Amino acid sequence: MSGRSILAQRVAPLGTTVFSEFSALALQHGAVNLGQGFPDFDGPDAVKEAAHQAIVSGINQYAPSTGLKVLREAIAEHGARFHGHTGIDPDTMVTVTSGATEAILCVLLGLVDPGDEVVVFAPVYDSYDANIAFVGARARHIPLRPPDAAHPTWWFSPDEARAAFGPRTRLLLLNTPHNPTGKVFTREELAFLGTLCAEHDAYVLSDEVYEHIVFAPAWHVRAATVPELAGRTVTVSSGGKTFSLTGWKVGWIIAPPALRDAVQRAHQFVTFATASPLQAAMAVALRLPDAYFEGLRAQYHARRERLLAGLARAGLSAQAPEGSYFLLADISQKGLGDDLAFCRHLVTRVGVAAIPPSVFYPPEHKHLGRGLARFAFCKSDAVLDEAARRLEAGLR
Ligand code: PMP
Ligand code: GLN
Repeated sequence: MSGRSILAQRVAPLGTTVFSEFSALALQHGAVNLGQGFPDFDGPDAVKEAAHQAIVSGINQYAPSTGLKVLREAIAEHGARFHGHTGIDPDTMVTVTSGATEAILCVLLGLVDPGDEVVVFAPVYDSYDANIAFVGARARHIPLRPPDAAHPTWWFSPDEARAAFGPRTRLLLLNTPHNPTGKVFTREELAFLGTLCAEHDAYVLSDEVYEHIVFAPAWHVRAATVPELAGRTVTVSSGGKTFSLTGWKVGWIIAPPALRDAVQRAHQFVTFATASPLQAAMAVALRLPDAYFEGLRAQYHARRERLLAGLARAGLSAQAPEGSYFLLADISQKGLGDDLAFCRHLVTRVGVAAIPPSVFYPPEHKHLGRGLARFAFCKSDAVLDEAARRLEAGLR
């Protein structure tokens, strides 16, 4: 054997994802898992029944690579119905992918060359930086800053944003609502970012998987509907969060035809197509009545309040997130070390799993995550209450 490492250089720096690590620790220590974001309740019966019917009725062979037509049509309708995203041609502007995760990789594969730069907000959802590295590009980070006296929500400095763009910028990778801060980007912020993209002739990937989990007064703005971004944006979403079906991994991209074509070229050789019966059922899901989507939002609002109250009883303060099913709690006063030490203590000794946010930051911004812990509230009331009880007993 040669002395060469088994690992290719592109995977050598990557460890196990923090989500798998903390879910395994939670299992091992019998902890309540508020770490990895997956609901402990199931998606709507009508959607599960539609998947069953699709399998029984024989929708079991490869779908067209771009996706079942019925789902592409439902994606176009849904965009117009909820986000004013009109004019989506299901045939030329949509590709169905195996989750948003595959979609993000295919956008990068389709649009970004080695040596290009990708601008992304820190903290960064963990697959982004790995995927940027896979295509040989370089990430340039804009730090998101926590709320303070002058800013009621997470914010960024326009100067720091401008400084992240340069002659090599190819793509801005956005995430709204944002994991893990819960920030929902405003129309003004998106328009400003759009002018920077226009100045640098950059494209935009907008990851909107939490598009239906947004709490008033915040309001989800689909980036592709902002005039400054419209012609240059690839929207990425999936049904995992909206329908509490994270295990289905049905996602999609929506983009102007030339951009869709670039992504489709990658997708056809990454997975070719996504599970056919689940696509058929996802079309049913996207056409559920408004009451479903309103109910989802109301339930998550109640869960958010429940977890915030539980954390407060345990002496942990947290800003209410504007969107997503995560919140960041301030752990800096607890005297249990940084976020990694705190989260290890929590899962092994207190019996609650949370995620240490410093893993979402690049080295130069890691300090911004050290005093925080991310808790997921996509859990049933009994589980949130048990977590709160343990936190109160273990941290007070
Ligand atoms: N983007 C963000 C911001 C996420 O939090 C997640 C969570 N799973 C994903 C993408 C991946 O979505 P999917 O499960 O559809 O691949
Ligand atoms: N998006 C989920 C989270 O942030 C994790 C998904 C995964 O494990 N890849 O918790």
